[in-house]
Amino acid sequence: MSDLPDVLDSLVIGAGQAGLSASYHLQRRGLQHVVLDADAAPGGAWQHRWDSLSMHDVHGVAALPDAEPPGEDTGRANVAVPAYFAAYEREHGLPVVRPVRVDRVTEDDGLLVIRAGERSWTSRTLVNATGTWTQPFVPRYPGMDTFVGEQLHTHDFPGAEHFRGRRVVVVGGGASAVQFLGELAPLTDTLWVTRRAPVWRTDDFSPEAGRAAVALVEERVRRGLPPASVVSVTGLALRPQEREAERLGAYDRQPMFASVEPDGVRWADGRFEHVDVILWATGFRPAISHLAPLRLRSPAGGIQLDGTTAVADRRVQLVGYGPSASTIGANRAGRAAARGVAEWIGDTAGLRP
Ligand code: FAD
Repeated sequence: MSDLPDVLDSLVIGAGQAGLSASYHLQRRGLQHVVLDADAAPGGAWQHRWDSLSMHDVHGVAALPDAEPPGEDTGRANVAVPAYFAAYEREHGLPVVRPVRVDRVTEDDGLLVIRAGERSWTSRTLVNATGTWTQPFVPRYPGMDTFVGEQLHTHDFPGAEHFRGRRVVVVGGGASAVQFLGELAPLTDTLWVTRRAPVWRTDDFSPEAGRAAVALVEERVRRGLPPASVVSVTGLALRPQEREAERLGAYDRQPMFASVEPDGVRWADGRFEHVDVILWATGFRPAISHLAPLRLRSPAGGIQLDGTTAVADRRVQLVGYGPSASTIGANRAGRAAARGVAEWIGDTAGLRP
């Protein structure tokens, strides 16, 4: 890295699927860049996912450009995907620097300054690929601080055995909640609560349905709204390993409770259920606080994008955000972001310091 120029063409933050895809395409275009990654090892968020999540559960991951992905029979996702990413970084010679957690990106005389503690990098453009894993979201409910049992989030799921013999309320209407109930119900007593009635996929999920779901999220970010999760609009499906939980009634969902009490949860109509554990499977938010000084947020609360380009500052690309927050979307977004960077560099080539 010692022969890096003082001013980079681009800097990628994050080495998950989105950041690696972007780096591959930047490299192909001959654009000088580094990838800064907060994790100590390759694998993006996949290295932190729970042990019982198998490649079969996630139906494999999309291929990074020019590299066959691990198949559905390759065991634990938190081992197979990190090994795939590590080999990819090595074989393509991608300029990943870790562990570096970026804490602030600021503007300086037409250039972007990317800071991590005492260190800083200067770049003409930025590709933000920081995912959501570091921003688990837990909604607030009255009384939740008084609960004497255990509260935890998907982010910290320790495996089903941890819950044996304890009554668990699983909160949330996404794929993680469905998987957790499938694992917990055969071991212990569960309750499932969601804000909205879950939408089950009845037919085989087609590519057209997938594209339609992504288009909905795309429309939100085009308008500058906070993105919804792509998975939240594709609908839920039960897998064969969840049939036992279904038979036990684990998917008989109840509406959201109104408050939490020291030893349970209470609904607005006064009904009370004793629980020992609240498992918040309530999703994640984009990890973008380091971009705050650039003031990218629209009045609607999200970052308005034109493709992957931030409308408020066309030097900035966001990948793995909104419609591209899936392995397949992240992959495509990486290519689009490199194109966006090349266009900016091309447009401003005559202005280079
Ligand atoms: P990540 O893999 O999260 O990588 C982000 C990287 O950025 C990390 O390496 C992190 O260290 C780094 N980073 C974060 N902040 C900073 C910072 N400030 N400075 C430096 N580096 C930073 N998608 C599917 O297609 N199929 C699935 O089955 C599926 N299951 C999922 C299950 C869960 C529980 C979740 C949360 C997501 C799931 N997704 C799934 C979504 C998918 O994993 C991601 O959208 C996709 O992998 C793209 O990842 P990414 O590169 O955007 O982010």
